[in-house]
Amino acid sequence: MHLADLDVAQRREAVVGLGLPAFRADQVSRHWFGRLDADPDSWTDLTSTDRDLIAEALLPHLLTPMRELACDDGATIKTLWRLHDGSRVESVLMGYRDRVTLCVSSQAGCGMNCPFCATGQAGLTRNMSTAEIVEQVVAGSRIVRHGDFPGRRDRVSNVVFMGMGEPLANYRAVMGAIRRLVDPVPAGLGMSARAITVSTVGLVPRIRDLAHEGLPLRLAISLHAPDDELRDTLVPINTRYPISEVLDAAWEYERETGRRVSIEYALIRGINDQEWRAERLGLLLRGHRVHVNLIPLNPTPGSAWTASDPRDERAFVAALERARVPVTVRDTRGREIDGACGQLAAEDSDVR
Ligand code: SAH
Repeated sequence: MHLADLDVAQRREAVVGLGLPAFRADQVSRHWFGRLDADPDSWTDLTSTDRDLIAEALLPHLLTPMRELACDDGATIKTLWRLHDGSRVESVLMGYRDRVTLCVSSQAGCGMNCPFCATGQAGLTRNMSTAEIVEQVVAGSRIVRHGDFPGRRDRVSNVVFMGMGEPLANYRAVMGAIRRLVDPVPAGLGMSARAITVSTVGLVPRIRDLAHEGLPLRLAISLHAPDDELRDTLVPINTRYPISEVLDAAWEYERETGRRVSIEYALIRGINDQEWRAERLGLLLRGHRVHVNLIPLNPTPGSAWTASDPRDERAFVAALERARVPVTVRDTRGREIDGACGQLAAEDSDVR
């Protein structure tokens, strides 16, 4: 158990359980969530005995950085973390002119088995805890604040659940983390829910749950094909939740939250990048407030697949534009450090 696993009431309860007055929990929250200061030795408004008690009980060491790789002149940083049980996860920090985005992991590995994704190849190791997810964000903000990170921001402004794992397959811990991110300081980090993106293969019941959380999160659906025949092979869970059901749930999300849903589509050369598929995608999305994010496939080791020919990519974009579907092509930040979409593998990298 870690401070970040607990809401305000639970933190007070835990502190009282240690024989300390409840307001100690609020002091600690101000340091940890408000000032991003996770070093109890610097919390000088608590006695050193109280600090030790609290650190011992509520601040177990969760994430150990094993490796840090930077590119884009330091504006993209990938960190490989070791968790307390030896599992490995990665997160990627990306600085832009107007925001700092952290791509976080929600599971060590992933059980969804999408054949084009590096994380999917090794299978699922385990779910991450709420605090392990939140700690990635706090650690990212510390780099932005104290490192020589370019730009004027002093903390992470956006979080995308697009690292390792399927966030909606770890729903409870992920929702706990999201609450910690959006709760106002000192209960949480005080981020805007609109700046948090949950990306999913399309776990229909959980999308419907998310629609009723009362938070204007951004939802991204990893579609990758407009027809079930192809999607069954690219996103295997499609055999359980086919495209029509996934999109129905997405439209419910759109209705409930008023938010425009993002459709993720990795363009794979000769597999899903035909113009007719773009037209069919346009028909599926017509009449909804959506945004299509095309991701040039980032090739992963051992796979024969690669990104589309630029001409095919342009034709795909043009077909969607003709259907009046807003579309952009995602940049491939972090590609040279294996930090781009689908490249996070966390394999034995600490020994290299
Ligand atoms: N499990 C979630 C989030 C993780 S991946 C999901 O599937 O949405 C975030 C996005 O990167 C997903 O759209 C995923 O399909 C995509 N992706 C995975 N591997 C990729 C690759 N090799 N190249 C480009 N995009 C990839």
